[in-house]
Amino acid sequence: ANKSVYNLVIVGYGGMGSYHGQLIEKVPALEVTGVYDIVDYRMELAGQHGYHAYESMGAVLSDENVDIVLIATPNDVHKELSIQALRAGKHVICEKPVTINSADLLDIVKVAEETGQTFTVHQNRRWDEDFLIIRDMFEKRAVGDVFHVESRVQGANGIPGDWRQLKAYGGGMLLDWGVHLLDQLLLLTDSKIESVHAQLSTILDTEVDDGFTTTIRFKDGLTAVVEVGTTNYVKLPRWYVKGTEGTAIIQDWDLSGEIVTRNTEVEKVEPKPIQAGRGLTKTMAPPSEESTIRKSIEPIQNPPEEFYVNFLSVIEGSAQSAVPNEQVHRVLVLIETIFEAAEKDAVIHKEF
Ligand code: NAD
Repeated sequence: ANKSVYNLVIVGYGGMGSYHGQLIEKVPALEVTGVYDIVDYRMELAGQHGYHAYESMGAVLSDENVDIVLIATPNDVHKELSIQALRAGKHVICEKPVTINSADLLDIVKVAEETGQTFTVHQNRRWDEDFLIIRDMFEKRAVGDVFHVESRVQGANGIPGDWRQLKAYGGGMLLDWGVHLLDQLLLLTDSKIESVHAQLSTILDTEVDDGFTTTIRFKDGLTAVVEVGTTNYVKLPRWYVKGTEGTAIIQDWDLSGEIVTRNTEVEKVEPKPIQAGRGLTKTMAPPSEESTIRKSIEPIQNPPEEFYVNFLSVIEGSAQSAVPNEQVHRVLVLIETIFEAAEKDAVIHKEF
């Protein structure tokens, strides 16, 4: 039966676990009632926050008042904990990357189907404002038909000094940030992927990738470059989009940037040569002001609690998941293909 308030326990109360606690405060139908973490200090913090601190995972699972288990541990234990929770009759929200390989996700989904419980991955960057603006641009043809998109995140602080540097925990930037950017990318087109090429970087001498660049070609002709870096003292734009009628750029999460399109009301103006370096060029002269239209990036509404509200509707059978497991699986297959392309230094031709 539907409930007016669902009880949720956070397993893994680190950076992200505590952030979930804050976000869930805005969702009236969801209440964080407890926390379980293997580190005493994190449990003390949870206690200070007024959450019940469970003494073991077993204690969480055997508590009949717990409806939902939210897993925010390092990546290597997501699978085991998710399966335990589903088998105990709990619904599960699991952090990204849900598993370290695509086969492990299928094992979890099988258990979810067997038990009839809801299992959803927290792909929260599907609600990032910059991404929603880009998706809207694709749909509304704001720059005509998009034929090339570049999506990047770049920092200069290296990989945080935690489990993210270690392979055994599912560390590395492809799994950490790549999973978000690739998930977003695959929502921009209905087309299948045709080929993948990639390089991983290990500038920091860690056992995992500290960044990567991948080029993906879709069957409909769209090409994409996705790049993550942790040694970039100067950043490239977050988004760069080229369409048949114009170009768009979003510099950063502050939504600075612009959309520049061809003014169809005006006859094409023949460019005048400009001096560029020690030479002259007409080809690289900027488009004339009268033949182009410049617009700033307009914000889009995206309430932060939408993920949880959708999850509750899925539990109650009144909505489809906003993060279907098949889509999460496809992203993991893409990540595996990127690892393969980088290892072989080859273009992998595969339709999926
Ligand atoms: P973190 O190291 O800050 O926290 C992880 C916590 O899990 C720690 O407190 C650790 O003691 C605890 N833990 C480890 N093994 C456990 C176990 N078996 N049972 C219970 N607790 C356990 O890491 P984080 O940055 O919070 O990342 C946690 C997860 O959240 C990762 O999967 C990460 O990829 C994801 N994450 C997602 C986002 C996002 O925006 N969606 C952002 C950051 C992190």
